[in-house]
Amino acid sequence: MNFIPKHILSKSTFIRSSQCLKSLHLYKNHYNLRDTISLSQQALFTSGTDIGLLAQGIFPGGVDASPADRFRFQESVSRTIELIQNGTEIIYEAAFQFDGVLAAIDIMVKKNEKWYAYEVKSASKVSGTYILDAALQYYVITKSGLRLENISIIHLNTSYIRKGELELRKLFKATSVLEEVISKQELINTKIEQAKITLADSMEPPVKIGKHCFEPYSCDFMGHCWKNVPQGSIFELAGMHKSDLFEMYESGITTIKEIPEDFPLKKLQKLQAEYFNKNEVFIDHQGIDNFLASINYPVYFMDFETFMPAVPMFEDTSPFQHIPFQYSLHYKKDRTSEVTHKDFIAQTGSNPSNAFILNLLSDTQNKGDILVYNLTFEKSVLKKLKTLFPEFELQIDERISRMKDLMLPFQDLLYYHPNMKGSHSIKNVLPALVPELKYDELTINNGNNASAAFEMLQKETDSIKIAEIREALHTYCKLDTYAMVRILEVLEGRIK
Ligand code: SF4
Repeated sequence: MNFIPKHILSKSTFIRSSQCLKSLHLYKNHYNLRDTISLSQQALFTSGTDIGLLAQGIFPGGVDASPADRFRFQESVSRTIELIQNGTEIIYEAAFQFDGVLAAIDIMVKKNEKWYAYEVKSASKVSGTYILDAALQYYVITKSGLRLENISIIHLNTSYIRKGELELRKLFKATSVLEEVISKQELINTKIEQAKITLADSMEPPVKIGKHCFEPYSCDFMGHCWKNVPQGSIFELAGMHKSDLFEMYESGITTIKEIPEDFPLKKLQKLQAEYFNKNEVFIDHQGIDNFLASINYPVYFMDFETFMPAVPMFEDTSPFQHIPFQYSLHYKKDRTSEVTHKDFIAQTGSNPSNAFILNLLSDTQNKGDILVYNLTFEKSVLKKLKTLFPEFELQIDERISRMKDLMLPFQDLLYYHPNMKGSHSIKNVLPALVPELKYDELTINNGNNASAAFEMLQKETDSIKIAEIREALHTYCKLDTYAMVRILEVLEGRIK
C-alpha cells in the first residue's frame, strides 16, 4: 500500500473556505478565537451523526471504513482502497484523498459493477451547501480514479408518519444531485486552489465583514471579526436587507447616528433611528390604552416549548414535527395581586403531548385572559393537539378564544424603546423594559437550546445531568412568562 500523506483540506474546511477564506485562515491559525458552540448547534452535530448511522440500515451488511480517531483519516483512505479492491459492495464512511484534499462519504454502494455514492443529511430537503458538499466529494472520488454512476443526498421525508418500527426506506428519501454536481467541478477546482493558497500564506486574507458572515452559516468567528462594530451600529436597524446594510456600511455609514436625514428608511427604521438618536422611549398612549383595555383579569401568562426530533421518536409523528414538552404559567388575579406560578416539563421515553394537554387544560381552567408572546406559535401547537386529541376539542377551542398576544404593542410600534434594537422579540423587549431581568446568564437561554436540551434528555442516563437539564429548562421557561408579567406591568405603569 502506498504511503498517503496527511491531507491539507477536508470537506469541512473546504466548505468553510467557500464561505470565507479568512475563516479558513483563522480556523487553521487562531482556532482559539472561535465563538462558543451553542447547545442547539452541538445537538445538530450529534443528530447528524446518529442519522448517518441510522441511514446505513437502508443498505445493510456494509463494511465500516471510518477512522479510529480524527487524526487517522489516511488509514481510512487506505482501508477504503482495500475494500474496493477486494470486492466489497457496500462501504460506510468511505474516505478518499486526491492532491491533499480528503473527502469521506457516508455510504458507497456497488451495483452491477457501478458505484453509487450517498451522503446523509439531517434535513428535510437538499440545499445549495449540500450540493457543494457533494460536488467536492464527487471531485475527490472521481479524481482518485473511481468512476461514480450517481451521487445522491439522503434526507428525511417529512410526509412519513411513524407507525410502529421505523421504516427506513420510507423515512429517508434519496435525491440525485449528479447533474448539479458535475456542473460545479470547475468551480470546485478553483475553490480548492484558493483554499490552498490561503493555507500556504501566513498572512490573514484581507476579508471585510459582509453578507458572507451569515451565509450559508452564521460564521463562528463573528465574535472576533465583528468586535469593533460599535453599539448602535446600522446592523441593529430592523427589517433591512443585509445587502442594503453592507452597501451603507461600505459607503462609510457605520452607526445609526450617521444616517443622513433624507436617507430612505421604512416606518420602523425611521422610528428606530429617531428614538435612538434622542435616546427616548416612544409611546403611542392611545394605542397602549386600547391594548390594556382589551385585557381582562385574571390573566394567565403562558409559554410553550416544543422539540422537533429529526427522526420521529413516537407513534404517529413525522420528522421535524413540533412536539410540545413544556409550559410555564404565571397567574395574576388582578393588576395589583401577587403573581403565582405553575409549570410542566414532560418525562422522557414517551410522547409528551397527552400529559402536556391534560395538565395544561387543568391548569388553565379558571376564567381570564391567557396572554402569550407571539400568539401564532402557541395557537398552532394547540391546533395540532386538537387534531391529535379530538376529545379535547371544545376545551382547547375555549382556551384559544381566551388567548391574546402581548407582542402586539411592540410589533405594531405602540411602544418602542431604543434598547429593543429594532426587534419586538421578547429577548430584546425584556432587557429594554426590565433591565434587571436578562436571558444572557441562563444555561438555556432560547427556544432552540431548550428544544436541543429536551432532545438530549431522551438519551441521558446520568441522574445528576438529568436534574441539571430539567432545572435549566424550568428556569428558562419560567423567565419567559415572568418576563411577560413584568412587561405588562411596565405598560400599565407607563400609562398611569
Ligand atoms: S466573521 Fe465574516 S469575515 Fe470573519 S471569518 Fe467569518 S465570514 Fe469571514
